[in-house]
Amino acid sequence: MPRKRLELPRVPVKFFCFNCDGAFTIVDQPKLFCSEECQQEASFVRYFRNCKSRGKLNRTDIQMAFKTRILHILNGGYKQSARRIPLATRLQVSGRDKETCQKCGNPGREIDHIHGDSNALNNLQVLCWDCHIGKTISNSKPLTREVLGFDDKNAKIDNLRSRTESKKPQRICDDEKHWNANQIIIKTDIRRALYNERFLALGRNEGIDISKLEKDLVGTRSMWMDKITT
Ligand SMILES: [Zn+2]
Ligand SMILES: [Zn+2]
Repeated sequence: MPRKRLELPRVPVKFFCFNCDGAFTIVDQPKLFCSEECQQEASFVRYFRNCKSRGKLNRTDIQMAFKTRILHILNGGYKQSARRIPLATRLQVSGRDKETCQKCGNPGREIDHIHGDSNALNNLQVLCWDCHIGKTISNSKPLTREVLGFDDKNAKIDNLRSRTESKKPQRICDDEKHWNANQIIIKTDIRRALYNERFLALGRNEGIDISKLEKDLVGTRSMWMDKITT
């Protein structure tokens, strides 16, 4: 009699975002943030904490970048994949515009989307750093009482600023010195826990007595995990 092939079932597991504490579900790959925006906010905080620890936070260009990136986040974040420009296209645009800012004529190395996200050549132009930042700021609506979600946006600015300026990291994902190493450990931990949950689910599905195993495996369940929501 051929042996039955056992497949590990996919088990959705509830998890909490490192950046906003919002709940979301992971299935087979560990994910640490509920959205791309949350991932960007955390990397924003680490980037500027790093500037701060090197005494650069008060430099004009860093303050400018701080403001610009906050504006991006408030406008829904960079849609990174959509805005990524292939190297060949970058080179083509730089060559066409002779590495010259199309606004002020100074040397420029930034590639700017004229409108929206399209990477068509006629939608791309070379700008210098100053003109690029200037454009981003002037395109962003000023934050006035009338802006939709004014209070939420203000709360977000306060939150990001306080996380950037606090002496100790307020969140694990804010730790500019250790996050890179920590996230690898955390992901490994979650991967192991996900595997255990799938293994237990298989036992349940096949009617195997897993009570003993369950006790052992649940003991190794990731400390990052809330509960199983199958
Ligand atoms: Zn989140
Ligand atoms: Zn310029």
